[in-house]
Parts: sequence; structure tokens; C-alpha cells
Amino acid sequence: MIIDMKPDVQINTNYYKVENLRSLTENTFVLTLPKSRFKFVAGQHISLSIMGDYQSREYSIYSAEDGDNLEILVKEVDGGYFSPKLKHLKKGEMVEIHGPFGKFGIDEKRLNSHKHVFIASGTGIAPFHSIVKSYPGLDYEVIHGVRFAEEAYEKEHYKKGQLTICASRDEKGDFKGRLTEYIKKAEFSENTAFYLCGNSDMIFDAMEILKEKGFDRENVTVEVYF
Ligand SMILES: Cc1cc2nc3c(=O)[nH]c(=O)nc-3n(C[C@H](O)[C@H](O)[C@H](O)COP(=O)(O)OP(=O)(O)OC[C@H]3O[C@@H](n4cnc5c(N)ncnc54)[C@H](O)[C@@H]3O)c2cc1C
Repeated sequence: MIIDMKPDVQINTNYYKVENLRSLTENTFVLTLPKSRFKFVAGQHISLSIMGDYQSREYSIYSAEDGDNLEILVKEVDGGYFSPKLKHLKKGEMVEIHGPFGKFGIDEKRLNSHKHVFIASGTGIAPFHSIVKSYPGLDYEVIHGVRFAEEAYEKEHYKKGQLTICASRDEKGDFKGRLTEYIKKAEFSENTAFYLCGNSDMIFDAMEILKEKGFDRENVTVEVYF
């Protein structure tokens, strides 16, 4: 299937009222805002602050480009400054958004010629959720590394057989072990575009493994969270 290219978007500042917080696990949730005029390309992130608080943090956009709402997927980091505050937001409270930012999206040159393999640790799956929802005909596979299989957030949103959950601490995923162990064993066709998102240790290890498999840097796009 041929998929249309996405237009460029402008950077804006917007104030929104919180619409909803959807709890996924004990410490992970989806923050829902009205979409209004906010335009972005799937894979981009925003900078978010809470009205009355001088701090801001970056979050990948979780929702689709044409979704009814603007959503982000957040993990409450133990001892963190900002993410616990987000978790306690109530419907109607105001947040401020700058963005969208970044170029972490589908490589338009490879859109129809390549398979797109999305490799994520934890909430690093957020931009890939936005991408698969925004490009319905995309040839993709998501490899998601989590500690426990219950952290495979909203797995029913991905096409059957196109999501592999690598759970390192229980037996309930599709693969028992770290996603880097899975990547070592997996076979990928020559025409694969890789996208890596999450913590830097995973990203560096995965890039090394892909290099050993013969995929050089130009096949790999990365977004480091921390
Ligand atoms: C481009 C970009 C996109 C991002 N998108 C998302 C997203 O979609 N969802 C999301 O939850 N976070 C995302 N982050 C991380 C986010 O910006 C914050 O760093 C995170 O919410 C922690 O903020 P905090 O103030 O609670 O912790 P802080 O007080 O700032 O930091 C506490 C510690 O937590 C570590 N940390 C940061 N993020 C995580 C994490 N997810 N898991 C474990 N430890 C972490 C930091 O390294 C730091 O040592 C993104 C970061 C970047 C740069």
C-alpha cells in the first residue's frame, strides 16, 4: 500500500485543560488533553509544564495525528520531580505545551520500500503507538522491552503478530529476557529501517547488536529519553 507523506508542522505554545488520566498500571498512565488546533507528525514530542510550576519535561506524543485527543504516556518515576505531579493532575487543571519538536518519525524515503522495526524500552513505546495509529498500512514490527509483561501498555492497539513483548522478570511475555537478547537471536531482512526509543543503555546496546548484524547507522533512528 502506498502511504501519503506528512506535511511540515509549526511549533506552538498551547494551554489545555486536562480531560482525563487513564491508568494503565500502578505507576503508568495516559494523560488526555483536548486536541484543538495542535498539529504534529507522529514520532514527535512536546515539552509540558503544569500551570504555576516553572519546570517542564519532554514527552512523546502517544496519540495518532488525526486522533480526537492529544495523549501522552507517562511513567511515574520514583523520586522524580515532575512525573509524580502529572499523576496527581485532576480533570480541568491547566497544563502548557510547547512544540511539537523533533524529527523522530518515519523515514519518508523508506516509507514504502522497507519494513519498519520499532524497538522500545518502557514508555519508549509511546512514539511508536502514535506512528502505527497514524500510518494504518505500515509494514511494521514492535519489539517492546519491559520488566513485567503487564507493562506492555495497551498491547491490543497493535496488529496481531506485530508486537513482541520481551519481559525480563516474568514468563508472561512473548520472549523471556531482555529485548537485546531477543534482537541478537532475531533475523531481519536487508530492507529494514530500525527505530530505537527509550533509555540510553538499551539504545547503545541495541545499536551495537544491529551493527554486528550488518545494519549500519543510516538504517537506525534513535530517540533517547534518559
Ligand atoms: C524526547 C523525550 C521524550 C520523552 N518522552 C517520554 C514519554 O513519552 N513518557 C515518559 O514517561 N517519559 C518520557 N521522557 C522522560 C521525561 O521527560 C522525564 O524525564 C520523566 O518523566 C522523569 O521526569 P521527573 O521530573 O519525574 O524525574 P527527574 O526528577 O527529572 O529525574 C529523576 C531520574 O529519573 C530518570 N528517568 C527519566 N525518565 C525515566 C523513565 N521513564 N523511567 C525510569 N527513570 C527515568 C532520570 O534519568 C533521572 O535520573 C522523555 C524524554 C525525552 C528527552
